[in-house]
Amino acid sequence: MGAEQGSVVGFPGWTWLFGFLIGSCIGSFLNVVVYRVPRGLSLSEPKSSFCPSCRHPLGVPDLVPILSWLALRGRCRHCGARIHPRYMLVELLTGALFALLWHQHLVQAFDPAKAVAYALASATLVAIVFIDFELYIIPDSVNAFLALVGVAWNVWLYASGRPEATTWGIPSALAGWIVGTVAIWLILLFGRALFGKDAMGHGDIKMARGIGAVLFPASALMSFGLAVVAGAVLGALQVLLRGRGREDDEASPEDAAGYEPESYASIFRSGLGYLLGIDILGLFLPGLYRRWFGEEPEAGFDEEEFQVEPTMIPFGPYLALGAIAATVFQGPLWSLVERYQVWAGLK
Ligand SMILES: [Zn+2]
Repeated sequence: MGAEQGSVVGFPGWTWLFGFLIGSCIGSFLNVVVYRVPRGLSLSEPKSSFCPSCRHPLGVPDLVPILSWLALRGRCRHCGARIHPRYMLVELLTGALFALLWHQHLVQAFDPAKAVAYALASATLVAIVFIDFELYIIPDSVNAFLALVGVAWNVWLYASGRPEATTWGIPSALAGWIVGTVAIWLILLFGRALFGKDAMGHGDIKMARGIGAVLFPASALMSFGLAVVAGAVLGALQVLLRGRGREDDEASPEDAAGYEPESYASIFRSGLGYLLGIDILGLFLPGLYRRWFGEEPEAGFDEEEFQVEPTMIPFGPYLALGAIAATVFQGPLWSLVERYQVWAGLK
């Protein structure tokens, strides 16, 4: 289930540095994704990045990953406005993730296809963490991309005749697609049945589908477990650090005016829609999306009309963080599980 199977000698150890450099550049691009995609802005127009504060187009000295932010001490060179540390954090994080993946799949083993698939998946998940954390949404296009990375990875495994290509006699990405969708959808359903509230955002279900498609069922389920642990630990920390100060301006489901939990009909219809990938097809066939979900495909989010849809737990960022951990530490995590099973006498 991991890095062990490469028999070819990989690259020398120090080359992880290339992984870091590529990752930090991808991180720089992810900053553009995180800002533009949820706002419905084009990724290609305008071509050059601009300062969100003074709109001045940015040049090379502003855009060197990590170093620019440090050299400019987190301020815009043109207007002096503060640049959020998030920009550097995304570059640093993506660099570190790519370095880890490089080390495991190109140095310890040699599996370039897996390195690419997992790098694309973890980059997408980084974008999701930051978009969802800031805006409480996950754009359909980003979730669709994650799922399609999994499908492409599975096709590659088939083409190269590898045994991981199938799980339970069906394509592994399809098995993971189903397991991921159903697992998080069930939480939505139980939350609705037991508490009369929306326990999960629909974006979380679509993300879980993508996580399943990329990681396949076993590792996807492990990532959900990690997400629950991360959610419990970080959630408690957040409460401790923030105290009660910020809770007032956060909409809680009961306070939101006209809050009406989702109907069961809609829960079942949406779940089936996500299983069938209607939201993904809907990116190209908006008519199909409208007919199935009874609403407009998202046209990008509008800061003026922005309203947080109340859910019990903002679980999305944790789900994404758990999946990132399961992606970059897949080998080590599974050997931990194995050692535990031996220790507990299960094996
Ligand atoms: Zn500026």
